Amino acid sequence: MTTAATLRTLGALADAGLAEPSPPLEAVAARYAVAVTPVMVEAIGDAPDGPVGRQFLPTAAELTQAPGESDDPIGDEAHSPVAGIVHRYPDRVLLKANHACAVYCRFCFRREMVGPDGVRPLSSAQLDAAMAYVAGRPEIWEVIVTGGDPFVLSPRRLSGLMARLERIDHVKVVRFHTRVPAVAPDRVTPSLVKALTGTGKTVWVALHANHADELTPAAEGACARLIDAGIPMVSQSVLLRGVNDSPAALEALMRRFVEMRIKPYYLHHADMAPGTGHFRTTLAEGQALMRGLRGRVSGLCQPTYVLDIPGGFGKSPVGPCYVGEDRVTDPSGREHRYPT
Ligand SMILES: *Cc1c(COP(=O)(O)O)cnc(C)c1O
Ligand code: SF4
Repeated sequence: MTTAATLRTLGALADAGLAEPSPPLEAVAARYAVAVTPVMVEAIGDAPDGPVGRQFLPTAAELTQAPGESDDPIGDEAHSPVAGIVHRYPDRVLLKANHACAVYCRFCFRREMVGPDGVRPLSSAQLDAAMAYVAGRPEIWEVIVTGGDPFVLSPRRLSGLMARLERIDHVKVVRFHTRVPAVAPDRVTPSLVKALTGTGKTVWVALHANHADELTPAAEGACARLIDAGIPMVSQSVLLRGVNDSPAALEALMRRFVEMRIKPYYLHHADMAPGTGHFRTTLAEGQALMRGLRGRVSGLCQPTYVLDIPGGFGKSPVGPCYVGEDRVTDPSGREHRYPT
């Protein structure tokens, strides 16, 4: 059964049998936005503590701040020259056009920024300033539209954005990062697809999903609409305790992406966002999972395991490493001498 509306309050979650309101939970909901779409309510089923439920249903554990956790865990602020732009690598910028999402993930690395009523979407003047920044820097080859979730913008807004980018010759690639094709597949309408493909720019879409249960037949249909229109897709996932930190869960997720014509791109180590310690694994656990994946599944199914180093230093691959001083390790773990 599909519920009609997105659940946005503890009361609505309680009515659906997905939360038991309590003072700590009220405190969590007052601090961090809540939204669970009908498709995700269905994917949660009767397992609030299952792999999908854990991602979207608020818990009191979010009130616990672990050492090192920060409101700006990957140091975006230090690299933001104008509102909405993060410019950390020479050839590409992030453009945060809006701060709303279709769902609010309990582990979100931008959780202090996203929400329906926190920061406003960029005003037209701010968007002009962001575009002028990009237009004035010929080294910017790629614009990565993120947020929030850019696919909650209307097709009209998206095509306006694309039209502005179209006028900047040196921008060759526009990449959108979104969860919408999985969590709200009905939003991927023909007019949204047309908004993305209507200019001459090459568009890529990166789908954020963390468990195979999110990749429903409806999600597959939404991704097929994008891919059939000529938009290549890649995936990004976050390694999350109790969601995908098992060999079976990671394998199923990566296989499902590839079956849907989505190339696994990144597996992110969970960032130090406030109140997310219960989701974080160690790097050693992540490396062991990646080593298992390499041994068992197709090369097409291999993402790169990356850590965004706190402080704004950027993303680095974090292994595992197969090369030692005078030897290499094979996929089943045996070492072989080889000059390096
Ligand atoms: C993650 C990120 C990017 C994109 O990095 P890729 O490795 O190209 O996917 C770009 N800019 C910033 C600031 C980022 O955090
Ligand atoms: S969709 Fe992305 S930006 Fe929005 S809450 Fe989830 S992780 Fe954060």
